[in-house]
Amino acid sequence: MATTIEPIRKPKIQQTECFIGGKWIPAASGKTFATINPATEEVIAQVAEGDAADVDLAVQAARNALENGPWGTMDARDRGALIHKLADLLTEEFDELAALESLDNGKPISEAKAADLPLVIDCLHYYAGWADKIHGKTIPVRGPYFTYTRREPVGVAGQIIPWNFPMLMVAWKWGPALAAGCTIVMKPAEQTPLTCLRMARLAQKAGIPDGVINVVPGYGPTAGAAVVAHPGVDKIAFTGEHRTAQIIMREAAETMKRCTFELGGKSPNIVFADADLDAAVAGAHLGLYLNQGQCCCAGSRVFVEGKIHDKFVQKLVDMNSGRKLGNPLDPETQQGPQVDKAQFDKIMHYIELGKKEGAKCVSGGKRHGTKGYFIEPTLFDGVKDHMSIANDEIFGPVMSVLRFDDVDEIVDRANNTMYGLAAAVWTRDIGKAHHIAAKVKAGTVWINCYDVFDAAAPFGGFKMSGMGRELGEKALDNYLEEKTVTVAMS
Ligand code: ADP
Repeated sequence: MATTIEPIRKPKIQQTECFIGGKWIPAASGKTFATINPATEEVIAQVAEGDAADVDLAVQAARNALENGPWGTMDARDRGALIHKLADLLTEEFDELAALESLDNGKPISEAKAADLPLVIDCLHYYAGWADKIHGKTIPVRGPYFTYTRREPVGVAGQIIPWNFPMLMVAWKWGPALAAGCTIVMKPAEQTPLTCLRMARLAQKAGIPDGVINVVPGYGPTAGAAVVAHPGVDKIAFTGEHRTAQIIMREAAETMKRCTFELGGKSPNIVFADADLDAAVAGAHLGLYLNQGQCCCAGSRVFVEGKIHDKFVQKLVDMNSGRKLGNPLDPETQQGPQVDKAQFDKIMHYIELGKKEGAKCVSGGKRHGTKGYFIEPTLFDGVKDHMSIANDEIFGPVMSVLRFDDVDEIVDRANNTMYGLAAAVWTRDIGKAHHIAAKVKAGTVWINCYDVFDAAAPFGGFKMSGMGRELGEKALDNYLEEKTVTVAMS
């Protein structure tokens, strides 16, 4: 992938309107909202504030594209070729997209280039390959009948995504939906609408027919809720907070929408004394501080075996002190600002709460600078299982270290959470590693690594961390209905 050494500092802001039926149109209400640069607190652009009226138009366009447009009758392999083409156009605009993502979200450009963009492109290529490999079965039923199944697109997919990995969430949602032959109404997060809109432009340039992808920017309780309530939407794919998912599930029940949810976490990262210490320290650091701690699978509860505890914590503190905070568009920056003031305030509240509850803040704990929503990489030692910082999802650069001496208790302690998204274990004992992997209640378990993602590997949560899986072959099911056809043979 062609990347420049000097990053693009001023990416072009091209798309700020709703994308409906292949046209860029202002919100019917005429309203707009500001999207903010979290590093400077300045307005980047005014974006169309869609609501129920715009969602209704988008659903009509998606329905029309599904039933009357070329999409519904297109050969599956040609559909796949269009998804490949979209991935190729993203590759061509790699630097520009990375800069735009960094500007709107605050993530370091180095991360956008090393992780977000490559994962986005890979995900789209992966699902492009699936388009012509979706097929039913022939089933040996009793009697003179020939029975087969067809796998058909579920219809119009309503997709609601968060702000932490804006483009990656688009790819995780569009990839399987397009491969399955669905059409889409997407509501990006109000904090980060710009790259999703840019991707819609590229989808059109790739030749994906008008109306197949529609994007309505706006707020959750208005635009998002309208997608959930609309009778013309067949399926909801949502990533965000579990409380929002509960509202959506209740609303979606009215129209029996198929729902999949990828929600929050309080993931345990378990470090045994026999682990490769430096690898485990680096893994714990990455597992929590990546993306300013704004990852649903962040390893926010780091359980460290007593024998190595002091040494481990000291190494974490040293690593934090070398972490470079600053302008996300600077290629040297390792940590940018939190996405907005609401998140900043929430995280600072939890840092104060941690101190009040008696945990020891051994690193960070303060705002960084005076402008932008920067928070120092923060480390609490001496955290106890009952404390709020060990239970609530903070979604920021705040790590809790919990000591353990009793190996028999560690699985119960790790599972003592309403969440179940991810977990990790660090040990050189392969039997112990697989034992923990089997016992821990989480959708993903990493052994001697953290945050390893692949488009082919399913991802999702146990318990309050979600329902269904994204990525891999599994995610195609989210966008397909199965139809049984029986033919009398006599
Ligand atoms: P986060 O804390 O990551 O912002 P949310 O669950 O609040 O998590 O938001 C995730 C996405 O859900 C965003 O696009 C947001 O606008 C949307 N959203 C929020 N509330 C609702 C709702 N009541 N109905 C539908 N979508 C919503």
